[in-house]
Amino acid sequence: MGKGVLVTGGTGYIGSHTVVELIEAGYEVIIVDNLSNSDESVIEGIEAITGIRPEFVKADCRDIDALEKIFKKGKIDSIIHFAAAKAVGESVEQPLEYYHNNILSLINIISLMRRHNVPNMVFSSSCTVYGQPEVLPATEQTPRLEAESPYGNTKRICEDIIRDSVKAYGSINAIALRYFNPIGAHPSALIGELPRGVPNNLLPYVTQTAAGIREVLSIFGDDYNTPDGFCIRDYIDINDLAAAHVAALDRMLDGKMKKSFEVFNIGTGQGVSTMEIVKTFEQVNGLQLNYRITGRREGDIEAIWADPSYANEELGWYARKSLYETLRSAWKWQQRLCGIDISDE
Ligand code: NAD
Ligand code: UDP
Repeated sequence: MGKGVLVTGGTGYIGSHTVVELIEAGYEVIIVDNLSNSDESVIEGIEAITGIRPEFVKADCRDIDALEKIFKKGKIDSIIHFAAAKAVGESVEQPLEYYHNNILSLINIISLMRRHNVPNMVFSSSCTVYGQPEVLPATEQTPRLEAESPYGNTKRICEDIIRDSVKAYGSINAIALRYFNPIGAHPSALIGELPRGVPNNLLPYVTQTAAGIREVLSIFGDDYNTPDGFCIRDYIDINDLAAAHVAALDRMLDGKMKKSFEVFNIGTGQGVSTMEIVKTFEQVNGLQLNYRITGRREGDIEAIWADPSYANEELGWYARKSLYETLRSAWKWQQRLCGIDISDE
């Protein structure tokens, strides 16, 4: 089996870090992205890190004809499908756009995999499918709950579409990776997260507040039933998360899958509270963050973290980076975005 990989959404946050890992592992990458939530300049960052410029095609995964042109070139052995819209709040306001984008894109990809005999796919799923588990940590057997948002529902539906397709068509293998909370940037600070507008996620809000772009970080709720009263998440370094995709592809190409559709939790196994993130960020970067504690955010899960042992055992994949390194990289990347000289760091 060849090493050509089509990476949809490859100029995005997780996609770009994964492309770096893929190139470093010897894969030949073609990126397709419609640039709805990323910038083509990311390709320069990837090239600067790896010395290799991946092929880039600007196309929309909802456009099956545009996608088919890429498949017809015949260099694709596997697919990593990241392309999706991901803003939870926006999905509540625009559910049809979210269902249309996230589900049609997947259907197109699977249809073309069948038509062009491309057997392997890794799919970006999310721990959001677990909702608030009754028992922690969450394993892959933790029941999936009704989604809190249309975005979350697209992940659940896409997993189901993949499961049913793999079963019915026989020619496709798939691995769904259920990501916990990815944070941080490449240690070079040449690629990182590029949030558009006011960030919804904690880490970009933290770094933008530290940089003075946002006045104050709101910490949503201190009255949760957790040791310090703040919400708990499993924050996974973006480079570690990226490496999990290479491990998943290797498993497929080496014929090591136990079932034709497998699911893995990709997290550290450590629950960290929002306040612990804030305090650790301040400590490792030697600064003080302007924050205030406000009321709970609607729809927030109180606490979730992963049991990653299935991924550890089966993929040989482990979260390796410390929270210190990750929070350093997040700040370094923010400084670079702000044009601050980081060359001596
Ligand atoms: P991102 O927005 O940075 O990357 C997604 C990329 O897909 C963007 O570059 C965007 O331009 C592109 N895209 C969107 N719709 C497209 C379409 N129809 N055709 C072509 N390109 C399209 O987001 P990310 O954080 O890198 O997320 C990648 C994947 O991981 C998504 O599927 C997301 O739902 C999933 N995920 C993300 C998180 C997270 O916290 N970041 C957690 C769990 C799962
Ligand atoms: N959070 C916060 N302030 C923010 C953004 C997030 O206190 O400005 C908290 C949020 O309540 C949650 C945690 O940080 O407990 C992670 O939130 P994020 O939106 O990054 O991820 P998700 O809720 O999807 O796990």
